Amino acid sequence: MYANGAILRFFARAALCASVVAGGALLVDSTRSPSIATSAGRDHPYFSPQISDKHLNDARRSQGSDSSNKELVFNASDETELGLGRAYKNGLVMSGATPHRIILFTFDDGPDRRTTPLLLDRLDAVGVKAVFFLVASRIIGSNPLERQQENIAREIVRRGHIVGSHTYEHLQLPLLDNEKALYQVTETEKVFRKVFGNRPWLIRPPGGAHSPRIDEMLWNRGYTTMLWNLGAGDFQVSTAEQVFKTWRRVFERREVENRERGGIIMLHDTYPWSVDAFQLIFSDLMDRNCQLLSRGEELFDIVDDPSFFFQARSNELSGTVSPPAAPDRNILSGRQVHLRRETAERCRLNTFQ
Ligand SMILES: [Zn+2]
Repeated sequence: MYANGAILRFFARAALCASVVAGGALLVDSTRSPSIATSAGRDHPYFSPQISDKHLNDARRSQGSDSSNKELVFNASDETELGLGRAYKNGLVMSGATPHRIILFTFDDGPDRRTTPLLLDRLDAVGVKAVFFLVASRIIGSNPLERQQENIAREIVRRGHIVGSHTYEHLQLPLLDNEKALYQVTETEKVFRKVFGNRPWLIRPPGGAHSPRIDEMLWNRGYTTMLWNLGAGDFQVSTAEQVFKTWRRVFERREVENRERGGIIMLHDTYPWSVDAFQLIFSDLMDRNCQLLSRGEELFDIVDDPSFFFQARSNELSGTVSPPAAPDRNILSGRQVHLRRETAERCRLNTFQ
């Protein structure tokens, strides 16, 4: 029903110049610690992370008929590199904080053969691109289940989403010694090289748990850590309605308490109720846009990738959190013009249904 899309992809996307300083988050995502000053943002090219069917077909052919041969790897094309988040290497930690109504969907812990394919179809149906943080041990191995999930991982990228590391075995990194923590990260890189042809550049530490020691390790390997500010507690409940209710509460509280009107939503693609909750959240944002349009306010803009939250490093200390996303005014207002036009059409159509 939203196939005409509330999602705008018309603009060449551009750099973010953030000017406000934000706090860091240690151990849990919602903890805000004293801020660390950062220098001004740099321009950053805004990519569309599409991967062609041709590349994947070529890559599949290159694997030959013996699909059990684990030594064969993909050579990542430029398009695949975009799906691996190469554009977001060496960035400050993303917290999701933003005073703008910018929304990025992210999904953790997958892929799962029972739920991820349906989610991919639902994302396609409404034209949303997301970031998936994969648990590498789920996509490596020779049994049919693992092979299936390895293919789903590739399908995620083929459909234009971005994949990042959620470590090898989903262990809380601050609880591990240096060697074991590093293993979780480098083993994931090995798996990604085999499955996609290269390493990931975005990482979400399991549970959002990090520490100065872990921050430094990830920093030195060029990772950009992506946290979130809009959780929905989907790992604690078992219905989409419960997830939606929690999300709405968090969403509204963020605005009241932190003046954050958008941000990074975190769900898990491993639960069927989360797949349904995505639709509820998306529909809610679309309904809100109808109301916001009639009031002449900024509309919710569901963005394709992390560009709006990304800030490259210069001389910051490891673990420095990016200032709240403050996109270039021209880009934002240009997107709003298209969004308003599209929303006007969609909301009018809805009144005749
Ligand atoms: Zn997780």
